[in-house]
Amino acid sequence: MAAGEKGTVTVVNHPLVQYKLTLMRKRETSTGKFRTLLSEISMLLAYEVTRDLATDTIEIETPIAKMMAPVVAGRELVIVSILRAGNGILDGILQLIPSAHVGHIGLYRDPKTLVAVEYYFKMPRDMEERDVIVVDPMLATGHSAVAALDRIKQTKPKGIKFLCLLAAPEGVEYLQEFHPDVPIFTAAIDERLNEKKYIVPGLGDAGDRLFGTQ
Ligand code: URA
Repeated sequence: MAAGEKGTVTVVNHPLVQYKLTLMRKRETSTGKFRTLLSEISMLLAYEVTRDLATDTIEIETPIAKMMAPVVAGRELVIVSILRAGNGILDGILQLIPSAHVGHIGLYRDPKTLVAVEYYFKMPRDMEERDVIVVDPMLATGHSAVAALDRIKQTKPKGIKFLCLLAAPEGVEYLQEFHPDVPIFTAAIDERLNEKKYIVPGLGDAGDRLFGTQ
């Protein structure tokens, strides 16, 4: 990719994705319902993110005849969850791709320096041979996404994509500035961030809504 060139952003505007997102945004949606919806929507988003997976063909035998049939090629995908809300997306994707391997990264923002500090990092082996999908429901400022991608790139995966549920324009821009080679997939790009760095109109704190900790 040429210097200064921006990465791609795919907004998945399938009606089922958009309807489920509307239900998730509603203040009165319960924790249990929110969790179920995030899992369902994540399956639909994963379908889009994995659209270009490489395939091979193998010979199989149906009850009627032999045929050459497609299979997914290469080593298992790695889904990396940015803790803690990323786990909500992870659950849905694993229902669709149960053989995927899983990495976790935990980051917190130092309140004084505002620098993202890593407190947990565990990736599968052989990252060099695998494609990675990094997941976090909210791409807000983009700071944790950029810090996570910086760290994951040190493991030299074959390719990386970033999947979120909702993005702010500021977060998209920031991520594209530092990682223009990482395609972004999202269900919607909202208006802006507010003074507390929440996405507007957004859906509130995704982790709190997912785990009932508000
Ligand atoms: N993280 C959230 O959970 N919600 C936002 O709106 C922004 C960041």
